[in-house]
Amino acid sequence: MNRKLILIPLILLFAVATVRAQKAPDLKVWNNKQCAVVLTYDDAIDVDLDNVIPALDSLNLKGTFYIIGSSPVVYKRLDEWRLAAKHGHELGNHALFHPCDGSLPGRSFVTPDNDRSKYSVSRAVSEIRVNNTLLKAIDGKDKRTFAYPCGDLKIGDVYFYDQLKKDFAGARGVWAGKQTADQVKLDNIECYGINGQSADYMIDLVKKAQQTHTLLVFLFHGVGGGHSINEPLDAHSKLLHYLKDHENDIWIAPMVDVAENISAYQAAK
Ligand SMILES: [Zn+2]
Repeated sequence: MNRKLILIPLILLFAVATVRAQKAPDLKVWNNKQCAVVLTYDDAIDVDLDNVIPALDSLNLKGTFYIIGSSPVVYKRLDEWRLAAKHGHELGNHALFHPCDGSLPGRSFVTPDNDRSKYSVSRAVSEIRVNNTLLKAIDGKDKRTFAYPCGDLKIGDVYFYDQLKKDFAGARGVWAGKQTADQVKLDNIECYGINGQSADYMIDLVKKAQQTHTLLVFLFHGVGGGHSINEPLDAHSKLLHYLKDHENDIWIAPMVDVAENISAYQAAK
């Protein structure tokens, strides 16, 4: 037989096998589900305890709450935060005073005391570590994640989180995007900020994450009020119910658990 005729099917077989090998996603990183979804809530506000945690607990879903240590809501409702952590929610670190870079455009809300552009790097790092001490006193945990206040990554030319990498499992930024486990940068995890979008918009993001086997992180502030950035209760509730209805296919977990899985996955590569 002509050698070419034998070789062609072999080459085709090899090509198909290669494409299949490339396409098969390693879903162990997502707890053997199609994708991971992380629900994050910033700034330690009353509605976290009044609206969000009861909604999550009613469906046995776990979220991550990025806590500003100096928030009066932490001081006033310490036992409720402790109980939330006991129920499996992550108390993440959102810095002690939530300093933001006041030198950037549109930052008229930044007060001189909380202007990160006036901070030294060591002060920023120390305050974030003090917030970890405070959070450990509340939840007893050594592992958690960080979220950049205002999404600011740098002080001057310095990426201050570089000095905090060993203190955290990962850090959530504010850039929009879904990422595969290979693409995730644990020092600036991407997310979708939610401010009044419809339930359909959010559920569509989840469906796309299921199809693309990616990490999808939601960033909420107010839910049913409590913040100028806000999501209505009913849309938030519809998202939670979609997640609950599909929890066999979607890994819904606090950021710390997902970040640790990604870290182990990337280290094994
Ligand atoms: Zn914030």
